[in-house]
Amino acid sequence: MSETSRARARALDAADPLAGLRERFALRDGPVYLDGNSLGRPPAATLERLAELGERWASELVSGWEGWLDLPLRAGDALARHVLGARPGEVVVCDSVSVNLFKLALAAVDRAPGALVSWAGDFPTDRYVVAAVAARAGRRHVVLGEPTADALEAVAGDLALVCLSHVDYRSGAIADLAGLSAAARERGALALWDLSHSAGLLEVDLERSGADLAVGCTYKYLGAGPGSPAFLYVREALHDALANPIPGWFGHAEQFAMGPAYAPRPGAARFLTGTPPVAGLVAVLAGAELVAEAGLDRIAAKSSALTGLLVELADERLAFHGVRVGSPRDPRRRGGHVALLHPRARELCAALVGSGAVLCDFREPDVVRFAPTPLDTRFVDVDEAVERTRALLAAGLDG
Ligand SMILES: *Cc1c(COP(=O)(O)O)cnc(C)c1O
Repeated sequence: MSETSRARARALDAADPLAGLRERFALRDGPVYLDGNSLGRPPAATLERLAELGERWASELVSGWEGWLDLPLRAGDALARHVLGARPGEVVVCDSVSVNLFKLALAAVDRAPGALVSWAGDFPTDRYVVAAVAARAGRRHVVLGEPTADALEAVAGDLALVCLSHVDYRSGAIADLAGLSAAARERGALALWDLSHSAGLLEVDLERSGADLAVGCTYKYLGAGPGSPAFLYVREALHDALANPIPGWFGHAEQFAMGPAYAPRPGAARFLTGTPPVAGLVAVLAGAELVAEAGLDRIAAKSSALTGLLVELADERLAFHGVRVGSPRDPRRRGGHVALLHPRARELCAALVGSGAVLCDFREPDVVRFAPTPLDTRFVDVDEAVERTRALLAAGLDG
């Protein structure tokens, strides 16, 4: 730490319109937390809602379902409105990202002939799922070297689906959602986006971006807690063209008629399958409300400022110790975390976590990720985390 950088960080905190929201989280003493892009810190209101749910379960018993049955849609509409820039009925909250990817990729394969495309740097579960769907359907699986429209245009033959991450889970680089969605459409393919690292952080605006399908986590920037369900988005124009490959009773138009044959519900709700995880859904609603209160524009601006400060301080104080910034320097191309590259990244991360300095994570082969989540991280936390990292490196990682 230098006196000037600490003073500057304090001034940034003093001018931060979101500074007051930090106290709305259940804060505990501990390391500087920079892993909220893996598991967001719990908002205090969310913990209260979960306690209320427990009370309701105990008192209302099975009658409670009356108020819980439509939670996947209510949580979906809240995300559509406050987080994703989608229309009512286009988003539901259910299952995990992996399962939703599987459902939507299979639906896309049933709709059109041609290959499935993903990118070599996509999150592993996405690549595994798309590869499995392609193999099951007897389709080609094309893996792009770069997530760009040019790379997509160079793929030969018919395409059924292009599945990409909006924000690279390793480098934090933002892909061109609108440009790639348009490029996919030109090829007759549906564009399926994984928004796990952008939902609750960036102004995604699915409506205008031209994305056809999307999935994403709620336990990262939306703070809905460990194992909270994922969301899925289906553009309204596609609702009747796509069928849920796991047509369970929650996706049925008349669930409690218990009839002999399946008939899908209207809207994205046709992609619901089984009994919803009520605790997780209650937490998703609380998370969406907090984002709405903060404003996605202000969240994105603060994220950009926090990661900008982190990049600057890493250059200034960590480069001497062999750390390089592996994230885009252009703030418009950078998501919510910064990749710090180091030849001994695994040991550096273990030392940071083990010493109680910074709670962060390591990604193969040489990345330490620092994610200053905007609602609960201060600029002084960034300054402090860089200083603790510098001290560990200066001591040779062993000291
Ligand atoms: C965290 C994350 C996931 C997690 O998927 P689950 O099936 O919900 O475990 C998927 N994709 C990306 C890009 C992620 O960052």
